[in-house]
Amino acid sequence: MFEHCCPRCGAMLSEDFLRGVDEQFDCPQCGQSTSLARVAPELAYEENDRPVYKIVVSTTGRDAAFATFLSPEEKDWIVARINQHLQSPAS
Ligand SMILES: [Zn+2]
Repeated sequence: MFEHCCPRCGAMLSEDFLRGVDEQFDCPQCGQSTSLARVAPELAYEENDRPVYKIVVSTTGRDAAFATFLSPEEKDWIVARINQHLQSPAS
């Protein structure tokens, strides 16, 4: 449930394109050397047999995880909001 896009120009990157690149690559849209940026829920731990997710924002070598204690609805909203931002950065 995560999207890939260029963190510099915001261009969406296809699964086909990403299958052929390493973490570091030249964006086909803006031509700049860049790395993947993505946000996705990842399992943090299980509580009473129910999975509890944290939100992880990944760029090369730098992951940030947060929001573990928010409700599932709030996590969905945050993931969607960050992906929206990554896809259409302010110019
Ligand atoms: Zn780009």
